Amino acid sequence: MTSLVWIQNEQRLSDNPLFWKVRNDSCILPVYVIDPRKWENNRLGLSRMSALKTRFLADSLQNLKLKLSQLGSDLHIVEGFPEEVLPALAETHQLRRMVYTAGHCSEERSVQNKVIQNLNHIGIEAVAEGEHTLIADRSLPFPIKALPDIFTKFRHSVERETTPPAELPVPTSFPNLPKGYAPQSWPGFEASKIQLEEHQQVLFKGGEDRAMERLRYYTTESRLLSTYKETRNGLLGSDFSSHLSPWMAHGNVSARTIYWQIKAYEAQYGANDSTYWLIFELLWRDFFHFTARKHGDDIFKPEGFNQTYRKLGRKPQRDFWQWTRGETVDPFVNANMIELACTGFMSNRGRQNVASYLIHDLGIDWTAGAAYFESQLIDYDVHSNWCNWAYLAGVGNDPRGLRKFDTRRQAQQYDASGEYTRYWTQHRIGA
Ligand code: FAD
Repeated sequence: MTSLVWIQNEQRLSDNPLFWKVRNDSCILPVYVIDPRKWENNRLGLSRMSALKTRFLADSLQNLKLKLSQLGSDLHIVEGFPEEVLPALAETHQLRRMVYTAGHCSEERSVQNKVIQNLNHIGIEAVAEGEHTLIADRSLPFPIKALPDIFTKFRHSVERETTPPAELPVPTSFPNLPKGYAPQSWPGFEASKIQLEEHQQVLFKGGEDRAMERLRYYTTESRLLSTYKETRNGLLGSDFSSHLSPWMAHGNVSARTIYWQIKAYEAQYGANDSTYWLIFELLWRDFFHFTARKHGDDIFKPEGFNQTYRKLGRKPQRDFWQWTRGETVDPFVNANMIELACTGFMSNRGRQNVASYLIHDLGIDWTAGAAYFESQLIDYDVHSNWCNWAYLAGVGNDPRGLRKFDTRRQAQQYDASGEYTRYWTQHRIGA
């Protein structure tokens, strides 16, 4: 068999179902397509891929390209529409099938369907392989359409009835590249896509090597994992939580690798509430992934998929832009929004507070906030972002229907000394 391997958010060698699937092929060509549509402006007039996020992606792709070249293979990085580029490459290099991991939201599906149609047209088959979740689709105790809408029900059922699949090993050797294919270096993105603004700083570097470093640091090296449950609501610095989300979003590390690392850690240093709690959070990620599949495009709609609380927000106006720049009357909200604009990251506690403030204090349509997060977060994940926003807006999975945070009280509780708020409100971001 000869295969084209379409890499999307599986930018790693370890636990990669695509590379595992093709390990015995006679030749393969791994390809990443830079689809210009991903850099188009969203409805707020902002590029959906910020410069910080684009830099992370560039580092991640360079790292994978290097790792593949060390194994005698390559990552062919090319700009264009996947539905045009992939069939052309498969035909040129006489590859008989394409393997890819299916995305399930409408935008991903629409591109995939066009790719598959064009491949089939020239007699090449497309094979979907693997998934991005911890729990395998095939072991879910219910069909997706019967997924519980309440997290606790989902968690109890998967904890009782499933075990995450074992990690797939890194293949020790890779099939040849197609005859006549000559690997070329990739110059990276054009300057305009990665140009940072004065206030921005790079905290995260993409790539599997960095992801593994962080995972080792957070677990065996520092043993911070053993106190995660007590520290996870922190705000300042990077040790209060795993900070693995940017790497997870690009597939530099899989949820399963993290899970089995936690299990190995527990065997060596002992299990406690904290070691369990990181797995608990990985299950939230799965829950939102499956929820997005169950409810389809409803997760993007202001009225969401749960109509218990039905007060729709107003259109974004001047106060929305003040919120994005950290210029509201609430210093705690401002600090978090400035951190996001400067770094592309914000803690979970911060995200809950700024989202609640936009929805319930300013009364603005939550989908504008979610679109802003999409453009800024380095760890943007379609399922986690939109379902968390819908949850806080009372139109998603929250059985309480309305979850308003008192942001002043939250600041007193989680930033009692005011250190976090002072630190970020000193920064100014451009208009
Ligand atoms: P940790 O606390 O160390 O948790 C470990 C991992 O568990 C995370 O990396 C993440 O993969 C998962 N996780 C933790 N909390 C959640 C959660 N509430 N929902 C889903 N997964 C979770 N997370 C994203 O990865 N991408 C997003 O686009 C995103 N948007 C969000 C928007 C809002 C409004 C809110 C409230 C939360 C959002 N989250 C998102 C979830 C969460 O805030 C981040 O995953 C977390 O802050 C990342 O930091 P960490 O890796 O240190 O997390």
